[in-house]
Amino acid sequence: MSTRPAPVAASIGRSPTVALLDEVQRRRALGLDVLNLSGGEPDFATPDHVVEPAVEALRDGFTHYTPSRGIPELREAIAAKLHTDNGIEADPGTDIIVTPSAKHGMFIALAGVIAPGDEVLVPSPAWVSYAPMITLLGGRAVDVPLDPRSGFTLTAEQLTEAVTPRTRAVLVNTPNNPTGRMLTADEADALARVADRHDLVVLADEIYEHIRYGGRTHRSLAARPDCRERTLTVNGFSKSYAMTGWRLGYVAGPTAVMREVVKVQEHTVGCASSFVQRGALAALGEASRPCVDDMVASYDARRRFLVGALNKIPGVTCDDPEGAFYALPDISGLGLGSGQECAAWLIEHAGVVVTPGSAFGPSAERHVRLSFAAPLDILTTAVERITAALRTEGAR
Ligand code: PMP
Ligand code: GLU
Repeated sequence: MSTRPAPVAASIGRSPTVALLDEVQRRRALGLDVLNLSGGEPDFATPDHVVEPAVEALRDGFTHYTPSRGIPELREAIAAKLHTDNGIEADPGTDIIVTPSAKHGMFIALAGVIAPGDEVLVPSPAWVSYAPMITLLGGRAVDVPLDPRSGFTLTAEQLTEAVTPRTRAVLVNTPNNPTGRMLTADEADALARVADRHDLVVLADEIYEHIRYGGRTHRSLAARPDCRERTLTVNGFSKSYAMTGWRLGYVAGPTAVMREVVKVQEHTVGCASSFVQRGALAALGEASRPCVDDMVASYDARRRFLVGALNKIPGVTCDDPEGAFYALPDISGLGLGSGQECAAWLIEHAGVVVTPGSAFGPSAERHVRLSFAAPLDILTTAVERITAALRTEGAR
């Protein structure tokens, strides 16, 4: 008997970001010196006040299944946070599900709203996993490429042009991975107008909400009266609290749809890890404020260094990211070809690993993504190596 893979699973590619991480490990195991700027994860340790209650929970034997929606006290804390930080009203009993990662949160949210053949508009550049998730669920991800020359601005016209009778939802991410853009009030208005006119569900990925610069305001779509009843908000603990390995996130949305979404969680993972939820509860407390502020201040210093340094390289132009921790320079002036070719070149000639922009959609194919969730000395060395390699090898 042969083990024939399902065509839909075979049709999607590997996660480029996860695959790059594997490539970094592979090269390091070979003793090669690589600087990894491809990683989308904080380099900081999870704060102690988050670790301690989780360890205590383990020691106390809090090591069994929890309700599928998550422990009540965590859902209550999430409801309070959504109210205070985001202006979102969500009933902790019915409208919030704690998920093992925001990634799984997005997957079950999509599973709860799309039927086979449904189309989901995905303005791009967009995070690498949205389209494969939609495909796995039998839907069709419709790429809506935003124009880099307009700074990847989202317009009602572009969304409307992509709408068909099969369009069911639109997926937005703000602050955005990989552009660092945050949705402006005009863009949010445009999106809400199109969603209303075509009766679309809005999936809002707000995982980078706390990581933003220059006093910018984060706008949650679900806080808008015209979006409240049609929006599912996905968020998580990975980025804000340096908790990537803990795998914890959540989804909040209207009661009727969350009733269906929870069934997907019940039948797939059951619930998020019990003791991890105790840590997450602490992460939502006041003690996190100074930790988050410190981490964001560090990202900001790195952002200013990296963007400044990139713009000094002839042939490179880089906009200031407003949020998240990625720089997405246009490298087409380097003469090294596409972002894909440039990324391959940088690994070979500078030992620096970056993510090709094309991983996030065709609108970023002239770009590469550099993560500045890396210490300043690593960023400094990376820039020195890139500059030196361009000087010696690039001219050949
Ligand atoms: N959304 C975006 C935009 C991301 O960059 C990530 C990072 N992996 C996620 C969701 C998922 O985060 P996690 O699964 O670690 O909660
Ligand atoms: N979100 C991160 C990235 O974009 C982490 C890797 C992943 O899960 O995609 O690199």
